[in-house]
Amino acid sequence: MTCDVKPKDRAGTINPIFTCQPAGAQFASIGIKDCTGIVHGGQGCVMFVCLLISQHLKESFEIASSSVHEDGAVFGACGRVEEGIDVLLARYPHIRLIPIITTCSTEVIGDDVDGLITTLEEGLLAEKYAGRDIHLMAIHTPSFVGSMVTGYDLAVRDFVKRFAAKTEPNGKINLITGWVNPGDVKELKHLLAEMEIDATVLFEIESFDSPLMPDGESVSHGNTTIEDLTDTGNAFGTIALNRYEGGKAAQYLEKSFGIPAVIGPTPIGIRNTDTFLANLKAMTGKPIPPSLVRERGIAIDALTDVAHMFLADKKVAIYGNPDLVIGLAEFCLDLEMKPVLLLLGDDNVSYADDPRIKALQENVAHDMEIVTNADFWELENRIKNQGLELDLILGHSKGRFVSIDYGIPMVRVGFPTYDRAGMFRHPVVGYGGAIWLAEQMANALFTDMEYKKDREWLLNVW
Ligand code: SF4
Repeated sequence: MTCDVKPKDRAGTINPIFTCQPAGAQFASIGIKDCTGIVHGGQGCVMFVCLLISQHLKESFEIASSSVHEDGAVFGACGRVEEGIDVLLARYPHIRLIPIITTCSTEVIGDDVDGLITTLEEGLLAEKYAGRDIHLMAIHTPSFVGSMVTGYDLAVRDFVKRFAAKTEPNGKINLITGWVNPGDVKELKHLLAEMEIDATVLFEIESFDSPLMPDGESVSHGNTTIEDLTDTGNAFGTIALNRYEGGKAAQYLEKSFGIPAVIGPTPIGIRNTDTFLANLKAMTGKPIPPSLVRERGIAIDALTDVAHMFLADKKVAIYGNPDLVIGLAEFCLDLEMKPVLLLLGDDNVSYADDPRIKALQENVAHDMEIVTNADFWELENRIKNQGLELDLILGHSKGRFVSIDYGIPMVRVGFPTYDRAGMFRHPVVGYGGAIWLAEQMANALFTDMEYKKDREWLLNVW
């Protein structure tokens, strides 16, 4: 059996799976309290990203734009940033951190954002906002390299790098969640609470599943504070759940502060959640309590109900963020399914060295393709012109037309998912996530069976 990892063999992209680097930096920045990023570029670099994030989370939040126009593109646009920062600080007295997130245009014209920050710290901040605790920092995310995934990873590292400091040991671990949903954060906090582990959960967006309260407050914000970021230097260990979304920050803390780092696995499915809990136990010395053993048992029971009878041998295509895709593929294999095509939307050369991908290559018992730098045409072309038969597609909403056009059931998972209600509320990590994912996949197949087979008899006797 073969399992090739190769980039798509076409120049150009038809319907991209990912968006660009600044999008990832923006997603990381909304996880910080009292932080409003300013994206240094054209308005679309914010407008479309904000739209995607708010469509996905169904919440309001704030990111600013330097709104670069023709004159800025020709003569430099640092003045727009200066003006934007002044407006932000004057209008929002709570703001303490403004990351300046660069884009393709402002990196190409060569605006000296780092130099500008020094100028602003010595000028605007010292003179007009003296006495306020304000931090400016540059996050360089040119979009002609990498993707939204590398943008998230870079931003997380840069935030940690900017603030982490060693003072007194805090008796905590750092947990870098990666690009997850509020439902995932809730599940992760639940696992930590059951194990009685004190953790700094970084870039924490649980409150993006926010209530509508009588006071009318409607703007969501992240829960990670600047103090939390500073305190990352005092932890006794870091667990980054995702290799490509937070791994760099974990490595930085290890290298600069001697804080041991465990990177991955993404706790999707039973075996990866088991490993996550084992890592927590090894790092903290805290035992895995009977309550989690029971939760695990409930999950295994739920999976047993659907795996062999309905999910086994089903051919699946999976696309999206790499840690999610790999975690889903591993979970599908554990459910006796056949992930036959994995599509990763950027050209990160380190994918080929990922031990999880190597393990797939060594162990998979059916033919599998892993395509990097992939787009949706890689999926559609195989179905339309190359005879690829699929039972299920797993991925975000941008690929739904392939599912609709070719009548293939689909489970929405990843970012962005905007054409199904409440997807952000449900975890894909932990034992709870394993149950939700397996039952979503089974239900998608059941619905399909009913349409295609007209009153499917099997479900009557299940
Ligand atoms: S590709 Fe460049 S111009 Fe387009 S949204 Fe991304 S950063 Fe902005």
